[in-house]
Amino acid sequence: MNPFSALGLDPAICRAIEELGFENPTDIQLKAIPLFLSQASDLIALAQTGTGKTAAFGLPILQNIEPDVRTTQALIISPTRELCMQIASDLKKFSKHLPPVGIVAVYGGSSITAQIREIRHSSQIIVATPGRLIDLIERKVIKLQDVSTVVLDEADEMLNMGFREDMERILAETPEEKITGLFSATMSPDIRRIAATYLKDPVEVTIGKKNTAQQNISHQYSVVQAKDKYTALKRIIDFHEDFYGIVFCTTKAETQELSDHLVRDGYSADCLHGDLAQAQRDKVMHRFRHKAIKALLATDVAARGIDVKNISHIIHYHLPDDIENYTHRSGRTARAGQKGVSIALLHIREAYKLHQIEKLAGVKFERYLIPNGEQVIQARIKNFIEAFKADSDDDAKLKRFKNEWIWPLMELDKEVIVQKLIESELKRMGINYTDAPDINVDETARGSAGRGEKSRGGSWEGGKPGKGGRSGKSGGSGKMVRLFINVGKKDGLKYDEIREMIYKHTKVSGRAVKDIEMKGVYSFFIADHDSADQMRKIKNASFNGRPLRIDLASEQKEGKYNS
Ligand code: AMP
Repeated sequence: MNPFSALGLDPAICRAIEELGFENPTDIQLKAIPLFLSQASDLIALAQTGTGKTAAFGLPILQNIEPDVRTTQALIISPTRELCMQIASDLKKFSKHLPPVGIVAVYGGSSITAQIREIRHSSQIIVATPGRLIDLIERKVIKLQDVSTVVLDEADEMLNMGFREDMERILAETPEEKITGLFSATMSPDIRRIAATYLKDPVEVTIGKKNTAQQNISHQYSVVQAKDKYTALKRIIDFHEDFYGIVFCTTKAETQELSDHLVRDGYSADCLHGDLAQAQRDKVMHRFRHKAIKALLATDVAARGIDVKNISHIIHYHLPDDIENYTHRSGRTARAGQKGVSIALLHIREAYKLHQIEKLAGVKFERYLIPNGEQVIQARIKNFIEAFKADSDDDAKLKRFKNEWIWPLMELDKEVIVQKLIESELKRMGINYTDAPDINVDETARGSAGRGEKSRGGSWEGGKPGKGGRSGKSGGSGKMVRLFINVGKKDGLKYDEIREMIYKHTKVSGRAVKDIEMKGVYSFFIADHDSADQMRKIKNASFNGRPLRIDLASEQKEGKYNS
């Protein structure tokens, strides 16, 4: 018997989730589904994000909907627009083989008239943020008298965001006779109070340990000087070739500043913060989901509810002031049983907070040593060689190449080919670590501010960086030079477009073009010596009717955003 059928779920629902690749119920689903289906009692579920809680309440809610009753029968309240949209979209997928169910997501920051139209059309299940829900209740568009199931999702987040009164007011509007499910990642006295006031003899389930961040996340920290944090961030991204992560910042300005600098340095990055219009947010999230952005710089509020699969890293550019946010941040990785890494980038004076987090979030931190330049290069070249060797070497490929391409190379010694191959890969990577020393701060230098614990070494994939000490110089490709190109702001170009243009006409990777400073009709940028030489050979290229020119400007200046 299908394990979901065994829980009492309808075959049409089982078929839909089977198509989504769900084979076995998660722990929270095992506990919540039978309870919600039978409407036996209220439920408090302490469950982290990524445990499958949406299906835990969503599947039984869908099954209990009376298709012929048009009024609202289930209400799911969640803290953010993103989470609302995510839940509504999941419910639609789960109900694919059921008779049509009216599922509407309502949230602020979007046209209320369009939402009113949708609600009037069919709204058997409403997924809402508290503020917009109250607005619609006051306008008498949403009526809750027939609601039989209420879910408070990420209840702790809603309290953190100041929705306490709204939540209480909404709960007071719902009928006495109903089932309530309260889902929260953490259990605080405030959550207890809400539960005691609005839930009746709830069954309480805990998935994983109370107040703990997920177990399949590796929690790590690094200690560097404050001025080296940006360098550390870039090295982490460079070292982990498959880096796909969220970098948490304290302020909107910081997300913007870091994202601008990363883009200027050739990384695919963008930021998410409260000042962005919804359309911009959606665009950023779309690009992030499709991996057009490798590093998403976000504030805590903006990143709430993000459910993106396969996030490899969570970086805390600063630790959160509110410790509970640590759990929420790190829960954005290791979704659906996968593994993930959370790295806190600390400077010496921030290190004391680790104690509190370890105690309150129930995690154990391991030290992560920021790789030096040589380690980055080694790890990347090692990956390249492995991928190169794994690639099939069938004759058919060779036959497609013209003899005049093959023979000149055949004349070269094997060693020369190897050397040139690696050199060209280094250039393609565009990573220059000419002067990239060890930036880890010695643990003992943390003195009383530190945790008084010895380094246990980072958890490294690929070449292990050594502990402490200054590293040697890297195998980069020469010193950096400052270049001039005769296109700029007035040409309406973006940083990436300048990179593309350079690549198109010189075949030098966009990653080699760093620190672009756009002026009126010209720009400056930094590149390594070899790439610069190649770029300066540009000819027969023009833009806006001007022949393109790339020339030496001056030597690179030292600055806040070095490599
Ligand atoms: P949630 O905790 O609801 O945000 O779910 C996290 C992720 O796990 C989502 O991408 C779900 O599609 C996925 N998921 C939920 N339940 C299961 C299951 N039983 N088997 C496999 N994946 C699941």
